[in-house]
Formats: sequence, C-alpha cells, structure tokens
Amino acid sequence: MKGLVWLRNDLRIDDNPALRQACIDTNEVHCIYIYSSEQMKLHNQANCKIEFIINNLINLNENLKKLNIPLTIVDSKGFSDNPKKILDIVKERSISNVYWNNMFGTDESERDKKVKDLLDKEYIKNISFNDQVVFAPGTIRTKEEKPYSVFTPFKRRWIENFNLDFLDIEFKYTTKDNADINSNVNEFNFDFNKTHSVDMSIWKIGETNALSILEEYLDKKVLQYSINRNDPILEGTSRLSPYLASGIISPKRCILEALKINNFELDSGEKGITKWIDEIVWREFYKNIMFCFPKVSKGQPFQDYTKNIKWRFNQSEFDAWSNGMTGFPIIDSAMRQLKSEGWMHNRLRMVVAMFFTKNMLHDWRLGEAFFMENLLDGDFSSNNGGWQWSSSTGTDAAPYFRIFNPITQSKNFDGQGKFIKKHVFELKDLDKKEIHDPSIAIRNHLDYPEQILDLKESRLRAVDAFSSAKN
Ligand code: FAD
Repeated sequence: MKGLVWLRNDLRIDDNPALRQACIDTNEVHCIYIYSSEQMKLHNQANCKIEFIINNLINLNENLKKLNIPLTIVDSKGFSDNPKKILDIVKERSISNVYWNNMFGTDESERDKKVKDLLDKEYIKNISFNDQVVFAPGTIRTKEEKPYSVFTPFKRRWIENFNLDFLDIEFKYTTKDNADINSNVNEFNFDFNKTHSVDMSIWKIGETNALSILEEYLDKKVLQYSINRNDPILEGTSRLSPYLASGIISPKRCILEALKINNFELDSGEKGITKWIDEIVWREFYKNIMFCFPKVSKGQPFQDYTKNIKWRFNQSEFDAWSNGMTGFPIIDSAMRQLKSEGWMHNRLRMVVAMFFTKNMLHDWRLGEAFFMENLLDGDFSSNNGGWQWSSSTGTDAAPYFRIFNPITQSKNFDGQGKFIKKHVFELKDLDKKEIHDPSIAIRNHLDYPEQILDLKESRLRAVDAFSSAKN
C-alpha cells in the first residue's frame, strides 16, 4: 500500500502525526510539498522566511531519504489548484491513502475542505491530524459552550483538560519500501530572489538543530525565564519561534521536554518552566481566536467599537519607524534588530507596536503587514493577536489608555543601553544616562535623528481617538 503525506507547516519527522500514521499504515510512503511563490506573496510571507523554508525543505529531504521516503516539490499557482495537483499525484502513483496535519487559518481550512471533498469523491482515504496544538481549536470552551476570549480562563481550562497521554509522541521510524520516485528538491526552481538583509547564519537549518536549541535552552536558560524574559540583551527567551512557525519543531515536543525537567508539573514547580509553557499556550490561544472568530482573519478588529477609530497616516513617520530612524533609541534598535535578524524580542514587539498604533496613531493592520513581511517567525494568528493586543483592538487587549512610554520602557528593560548600542551604532559610545534620550546637541553631533513626535501630545491624541470611537 502507498501513502502520501502532504507536508505544509510541519517540516519535520519528529512528532509529525501525519507522517507517523502513514508509516504505520502503508509500506511505501511519499511526501509532497506544494510550493507557490504567488500564494506566499498573497499571505505576506517574509522573503527571509521563504529562504528559511526552502533550506529546511532541502534538509528535510536528506533526512527523509534515510527512510526511503522521497520528497516531491509540486509547483503551484496558489491554493485553488491544490485539490487537482494532489489528485493527479494520487492517480499517477496509485496512492491509496493521503495524510496531512491541520492548519487553522480561514484560507487554509477552505482549501483543505476542497481537497478532502475531492478525495472523498474519488474514494481515496484521507486522514488529518493536529500537530500544532494540544487541543483542536474550538474544543476548549466555557461552561456556556462559548469560545474563550480571555487568556487566563482559557489556560485554566486547558490545564484542567490536559492529560499526559496527549504528549505520547515518541515513535521509532524504520525505513520504508523503496519508492520508484526520485526526490526533486535539489532541481526544483523555487524562483526565489533574495531581497532581505537578514544574517541567516544565526538561524541554523533543520530539525536536529531545532531540537538542540530546545535542549540547550532547557538546560541553561529556562529556569531564569520569568526573570530574564523581558530584557532583550540577556537572550533569556528560546528563539524557537521561527522553528515553531514553520513546524521544524513541534509545540508538544517543547512542552514534553520542559515537563520532563519539572516533574511533569504544569502549574507548579519551577516558575521559569511553567511561565515558558504559558507562552506556548498563548500561541494556542491565538490559534483558537483565529479559528473561533474568523473576522480577525478578514482584517477586522476583535473589538467592534474600534472600527470607528480615525487612524491617521503619515508616510515619513511610517518610513522612520520601519527604518529604525524615529529618534527613540529603543524603537530604532528594535526595528533594526528586525531588519538584521528577521526577529524581534517580544517586549520590543509590544513597544514598537504600541508606538505605531498609539503615538503615531497608524492603523494596526499596516504594522501587522509590515511585521509579516519581515519576520522569520511570521505566524498569522500570533502576529494578529500581538498587534491587536498592542493596539487595544483585540481580545484580552491592553486598555486603550495604557500606553507604554518608550523612554521608560527603555530604562526599565535596557537599563545599561547595551541592546541599543548593539543595534544603533551611532549611539555606541553614549553612557546609560544619555542613551535612552540623547540631547539635541548629541543627536546632531552623532547624526542621529530628532524624535519624530512629541510623546505627551501624541498620547493625548490617541486617548482622544479611542474615547471618541467608544462614545
Ligand atoms: P519564547 O519566549 O521562548 O516562547 C516560546 C514560544 O512560545 C515562542 O517561540 C512562541 O511560539 C510562543 N510565544 C511566546 N510569546 C508568545 C505570544 N505573546 N503570543 C503567541 N505565542 C507566543 N510570535 C510568532 O511566533 N509569530 C509572529 O508573527 C508574532 N508576531 C508578534 C507581533 C506582536 C506585535 C507581538 C507583541 C508579538 C508577536 N509574537 C509573534 C509573539 C512573540 O513576540 C514571539 O512568539 C516571541 O518573541 C518569540 O520569541 P521566542 O521564541 O524566544 O519566545
């Protein structure tokens, strides 16, 4: 019997339930990945993320080869041709079963339904699995059978329903029968033009490296997570998000390995570990929001009243923000980190997003798109959740009058200015007193811009815009 595994956001062998089941059910297993640069553009995938995916496909191919599983990259114009592309392969190769791991975005769910309907019509067995979450979106509900829109009760219920059996992910793969198919990964024309300036050497390729990053993080840093997670220079977080976003490591693997060093306790024991697992549950929470409230995938805010906000737009302010030239050193260092690393520390994501949507009063959707176009870990639900939280338009969001002051944030979370110095070279010789808000004379001398806006005035303008929208 031949099985076909349709790989999508699960570029790994470890804890890949679709691949595992195909290997259990069938003696010959083929993998495909449907590649469409048009579709990636449509979903704003960052150029650096596309490069990362291609290199991970090349790596995965080498690992699958050892199991005699060929990987075929299928050229596509976009989601609409996926059902036919899959059926053609199924027929051509006399495949009996098709397997995939679920994606929960609106477009992805619609596409998958069409694939399923077509395969069902042709009596081709097809099975899908949940690899990205512990609980399928929509299944964790309140007593009134409603989806949760606030994180803390969601997490409480998540813990109540949790069972260690959900993390029964170990599986020993053995080589499959030789398929008479050559993988085309090395010859495939990905039509990729590099336009980013991210130093990709900081992001090692492949699941073996992702698992080593996890192991090292749990070994050396996780115990200090709740203390160090907000300080960007300390590197107190795992930096696993690019691997989770493209499925190079699974969230269940992360939770399982963390629980192993916490006596399998989810909400007691080491604070650093439970806090870190919390963040992975946040990821699942935002997938629930995306699934249960499809409006957020359609450019709509979660809080309906915020549709009335009169956002402004100023191109030169937008350019200053995106190029790290706002004159606020913490904002500029964060935006320059994004450009050079394809990643930004979580605290700084909140600071720059709040500055963008409150002080600049720019529409959160523009910032959301800019992040997606530049993040190696771009993930629709987490990005949308983060932007809507920061702009107070979302679920469980910051109250609209709570506006971070970027200079205070800078002093609190980068007291010595080390992070600023790492990314804003102009300021590298300033001391900790000057670095958070240099004087005009110093700015002129170092060719560093003046502040693009007045913090007090812009704060009042934002509070006014939100309260007018509410009344
Ligand atoms: P760690 O602190 O080590 O956390 C472990 C994992 O938990 C992360 O890899 C991530 O998968 C998950 N996680 C951590 N924090 C959050 C969070 N607040 N929400 C959801 N999941 C979380 N995360 C993305 O993966 N992709 C995005 O596109 C994205 N965009 C964001 C945009 C904004 C405006 C904000 C405020 C946050 C965004 N986040 C996004 C969430 C968070 O900033 C990153 O997940 C985190 O910085 C990744 O670093 P890490 O892997 O070192 O995280």
